[in-house]
Amino acid sequence: MTGGCCARAPGLLLQLLLAAAALCAGAGAQADRCDYYELCPATQPSMLNVHFLPHTHDDVGWLKTVDQYYYGARDNIQRAGVQYILDSVVSALLANESRRFIYVEIAFFSYWWKQQTAQMQQDVRRLVCQGRLQFANGGWVMNDEATTYYAAIIDQMTLGLNFLKDTFGDCGRPRVAWHIDPFGHSREQASLFAQMGFDGYFFGRLDYQDKKRRKIQKEMEQVWRASANLQPPQADLFTGVLPNGYNPPLNLCWDVLCFDYPVVDDPDSPEYNAEILVNYFLNISTVQAQYYRTNHIVMTMGSDFHYENANMWFKNMDKLIEMVNAQQSKGSLINVLYSTPACYLWQLNKANLTWTVKQDDFFPYADGPHQFWTGYFTSRPALKHYERLSHKFLQVCNQLEVLAGPAALMGPYGQGSSARLRQAMAVAQHHDAVSGTSKQHVANDYARQLAAGWEKCQVLVSNALASLRGSKEDFVFCNQLNISVCPLTQTANHFQAVLYNPLAWGITWTVRLPVKDWAYHVRSPSGQTVPSEVIDVSSEGSDNFHPELIFPASAPPLGFSIYSVTRLPSKIPKFRDCCSTSGAQSFSRLVIQNEHFRVTFDPNTGLLQEIENLDQGLRLPVSQAFYWYNASNGDFMHPQVSGAYIFRPEQTKPFILRHWANTRLVKKALVQEVHQNFTAWCSQVVRLYPGQRHVELEWTVGPVPVGDGWGKEIISRFDTQLNTNGRFYTDSNGREILERRRDYRPTWDLNQTEPVAGNYYPVNSRIYITDGQIQLTVLTDRSQGGSSLRDGSVELMVHRRLLVDDNRGVGEALLEPGDWPGTGLVVRGRHLVLLDTVDAAAAEHRPQAQREALAPQLVLAPVGQGTPYSPGTPALTEFSGLQRELPPAVHLLTLARWGPNTVLLRLEHIFGHGEGSMFNLSQPVTLNLQDLFSAFTISHLEETTLSADQPLSKATRLQWRTSTGGGPAPVQPAPSLDPSAVTLQPMEIHTFLASVTWSKERDR
Ligand SMILES: [Zn+2]
Repeated sequence: MTGGCCARAPGLLLQLLLAAAALCAGAGAQADRCDYYELCPATQPSMLNVHFLPHTHDDVGWLKTVDQYYYGARDNIQRAGVQYILDSVVSALLANESRRFIYVEIAFFSYWWKQQTAQMQQDVRRLVCQGRLQFANGGWVMNDEATTYYAAIIDQMTLGLNFLKDTFGDCGRPRVAWHIDPFGHSREQASLFAQMGFDGYFFGRLDYQDKKRRKIQKEMEQVWRASANLQPPQADLFTGVLPNGYNPPLNLCWDVLCFDYPVVDDPDSPEYNAEILVNYFLNISTVQAQYYRTNHIVMTMGSDFHYENANMWFKNMDKLIEMVNAQQSKGSLINVLYSTPACYLWQLNKANLTWTVKQDDFFPYADGPHQFWTGYFTSRPALKHYERLSHKFLQVCNQLEVLAGPAALMGPYGQGSSARLRQAMAVAQHHDAVSGTSKQHVANDYARQLAAGWEKCQVLVSNALASLRGSKEDFVFCNQLNISVCPLTQTANHFQAVLYNPLAWGITWTVRLPVKDWAYHVRSPSGQTVPSEVIDVSSEGSDNFHPELIFPASAPPLGFSIYSVTRLPSKIPKFRDCCSTSGAQSFSRLVIQNEHFRVTFDPNTGLLQEIENLDQGLRLPVSQAFYWYNASNGDFMHPQVSGAYIFRPEQTKPFILRHWANTRLVKKALVQEVHQNFTAWCSQVVRLYPGQRHVELEWTVGPVPVGDGWGKEIISRFDTQLNTNGRFYTDSNGREILERRRDYRPTWDLNQTEPVAGNYYPVNSRIYITDGQIQLTVLTDRSQGGSSLRDGSVELMVHRRLLVDDNRGVGEALLEPGDWPGTGLVVRGRHLVLLDTVDAAAAEHRPQAQREALAPQLVLAPVGQGTPYSPGTPALTEFSGLQRELPPAVHLLTLARWGPNTVLLRLEHIFGHGEGSMFNLSQPVTLNLQDLFSAFTISHLEETTLSADQPLSKATRLQWRTSTGGGPAPVQPAPSLDPSAVTLQPMEIHTFLASVTWSKERDR
């Protein structure tokens, strides 16, 4: 439902607001068009205009949990109560019509909104409609940019922006993206913002060397060309660096949290300071203007959790504005006004200047020579993985909500919902959540929220599967399969495994389940016998056996297959599948192999030695081992320590964990593995399944010992002889690839002061090196920091455990306790290593990264306890929501319920220009969507912006003249949409709202 806006605009701004009032129409009416920029305050064209930007920065969890921040609980940790901030700001805005404010974090705002009276809601609608309260950014949270996955960013922005659209109509839609606090900025983030329809983007943090240069060269503001693939200006975004982070100028902080002097304007008072303040203000304004190009500058008037007593801020600013502007009658050419980021942007746009263009990104971020914020790329690796798994499960939940229709929400398992997980996932994107920079109790709370979301989704998934399958089963979600625990499969003699595939391509997958015995019979959905094996996964020297059942399975696109498993009369347990060796004892050949790859290990050390791609006839010597950096505790000259945010190794050369590993070789028909045991707290399984075109390395690291007084940052490093010329490549939020060069930044002459940490970049899904012929790619299962510090080398930081806080506010050492009794966190993860020619590499790593992010969801059930879903319905063992799988270049990014008869659909071309050229995969693809889905038919299709809060046909953005030539591009009408022929260019995402009718008799 679209909310209405103000009925009338009272008071002094009446004239200005008349036009807006007309557009806002009556209360409750549609407000689908807002003359947003026309609501901006008047400025003085012949003066320097100083835009005050009153704002508060409300972290959605950091030192306190989300709820503690909202309610103002535990103020002994930090004085902060968001409910009071919003109460206070609204009443301060209502008290004076010239005041303006922006609000950013919709997780907080929407919670507050629900608790307001109808009168208060109406008052706030009026403020929004008049442009006095504007929303900036408008995501559920202000997400991190380094450790977030693009699909999760899109989801969280969609959630926040659509709350605003539904509540306030078009005047509630933020025109400006506002990431004032994230610790570095990714190019993909800017591209996504542009595709969401934002006109501009402001942030606070960038490398101190870069900022210094930009001030001198007046490049604090420019146009960011944020995609190497999308046609400009599709991903162009005007981007501004704020002058003072996001804080007010020195001495002008009038919050309860500040200690600056209030404005005392009574000349008779002994505290009188107005004249000094005015002169000071005129002076700092003039200085600041030297670094910017127009006669408009901004001052960010606010900071973390400011405005709990908004009157303090506004009362002092009211006075300062009046006194400064009074100087104009004496010849002053400085004009100060209440404004918003959007209104400032509007002035920049009207200046019609030509702006320079940026094409790289803002990583890594350093605020001093030994202060590189590259540690958080890896901090809290288990939370980072849980977040990524939760993203997958949310997509499964969203899809099944659509495929099963209303039966998913209410069914035999109760009331299911995707909303809770959607919100928990959105919260997890916050720049202190998935980034790993919150306090421990807050990190626990993020995990708690996700777990609560999983529970509601598990009900939904059960309802949907029962409905689609036609049989009610006792579904079981084994959430501890990563540690080989599943009570059902470890006790039952007969069970079924439902393999749900959230991809729009058919998949094959090796299922691995902990079991209790040594022989099982597995049947496919069609009842045929599937080859299976049981292997022992117990650790070296253990007396207990831990059998795991392995069998290959497949699942259709956007659908499921059900396999049934029956225990066979017990065989005598076998001894170990093969023999074990320690490093000194040599195996003649320690090799694992499938039809595509052969991996050889050094018989003397047990370490990886060579990878061969048998299809391409490529052989590359590759060694791999674990190393650790000793975390700096600071020194006399530079006290900076390594902490949750910052990576600062004491020495540039890492220590090898061990030069050799105890190994055990497992060679079976369905899997070949080399188990490497390095130390009591570091082991790895190197694995090949039949048909797999990559080598899987499953590492287990922790608890990291710190008894020697050193914090440790653990890396997995791959070394080759490839001549890589100082270059390596990392993804941006899991999408486009950026070239990285050691000790180099594309836009300024770098003075490299931290040769390790200063070369670390975020890796969300992949890092690779190439010599121009051969490419070695490592895919990750979560975000990690990575680099190539020597030619031919790739390293990824997998875990870190630190003893000292790094003085960036969190106030705790990153010393994750792990499970009871808190001896330290153990983390398990996977690296997938691909070796290919440069031409063929993307054809494998692009789809494999999607298979990794959206791996099939396994749901289990005992056999024999199911009952028919409805009388006469036969139970299905296989189902697909698609009539046909999508082409290899097209990924189904989103399928989610939007309304009673509306579905949100996103399709993505996953190749960039020139990628997959060998297989023509970077060509445009045209699809027929009309009859694509089997569960429903599409009666009407509307294309929207990426965030689904505006029809694409009505979306316009401000145009900017750039130094790369060409003036503002004429606004092009969106081409009319033909659902039977939708074309995707390389790296494009298309977002649709589809009106659908669910099929009564599903195509089975
Ligand atoms: Zn923050």
